[in-house]
Amino acid sequence: MRKTITTTRLQKVVNEAYEECKDIQGGVNAHYIPYLANVDSNLFGVSVILPDGSSVNIGDTDYIFGVESISKVFTAILILKELGPQKVLQAIGADATGLPFNSIFAILLEKDHPSTPLVNAGAISACSLVEPIGDSDGKWKTIMDNFEDLCGERPAVIDELYKSESETNFTNRAIAWLLKSYDRIYDDVLMSLDLYTRQCSIGVTSRMLATCAATIANHGLNPVTGKQVFPGELTPKITSLISTVGFYQTTGDWLYSSGIPAKSGVGGGVLGVLPGVMGIAAFSPPLDTAGNSVKAQAVVKTIMQKLDLNLFN
Ligand code: GLN
Repeated sequence: MRKTITTTRLQKVVNEAYEECKDIQGGVNAHYIPYLANVDSNLFGVSVILPDGSSVNIGDTDYIFGVESISKVFTAILILKELGPQKVLQAIGADATGLPFNSIFAILLEKDHPSTPLVNAGAISACSLVEPIGDSDGKWKTIMDNFEDLCGERPAVIDELYKSESETNFTNRAIAWLLKSYDRIYDDVLMSLDLYTRQCSIGVTSRMLATCAATIANHGLNPVTGKQVFPGELTPKITSLISTVGFYQTTGDWLYSSGIPAKSGVGGGVLGVLPGVMGIAAFSPPLDTAGNSVKAQAVVKTIMQKLDLNLFN
């Protein structure tokens, strides 16, 4: 997509959208992870970064929140880089599930396949594929280095969140063992599950997520640091994964009404990628029933409409 937006126009539009969306009510914080239930529900921030590196940030854009499922995008990029698109397709898949992010039914329906790196099953499988195989510390370093490259700064795990998730991740334990029985975990099972849980507990800001989104939009070249993080030809692979399953069972509704591929996390974040045009991230903790932030969805959609942008147009 080729469309240039000036920073002045972007600033005006993001300001307006922020004002229009800031009082939207509805949704509840994720309550199945105790830490997330206690995050201030009124936090709200939005960040946009253009391919030239210029940015607009409004609201709580420096607040550090749990990346949660948006981490799946980071690790998908990592294994695409390490193994290439064909191997990722064969080992995990690239299919929409149309079902909740932690669906066991989806694994059974896909006939033992994790289906995509952007649902829990595929993300645990993706963590098992990260190199170096068999070395938990080495794999974690690779995951963190990749986060740093994409965000433009090194994030840190929110220890309290990691503890909270580790103590309550019963469904993910079932998913990991089910995948193991289907030979879809390619390293130690508990190590792969732990890496997944830990990466979900990484703390990020909306600025950091927008930098990652802008790097994907900019064909792997981080517009903030100037570093080529991944080969440009991976951008369509990443955006296609995000397009098909980024909002789980409501992904079709989202694409239809917003026109931008985006990925959510139960921490309240949304990361949106418009290839060649911009990267966007919004954050607000209360979620709808599919686990997607109510206000973050609203503000991204409003910005898209005001800029008259749509991937499918
Ligand atoms: N850590 C969460 C989980 O595994 C992530 C889910 C999400 O953000 N949708 O359940």
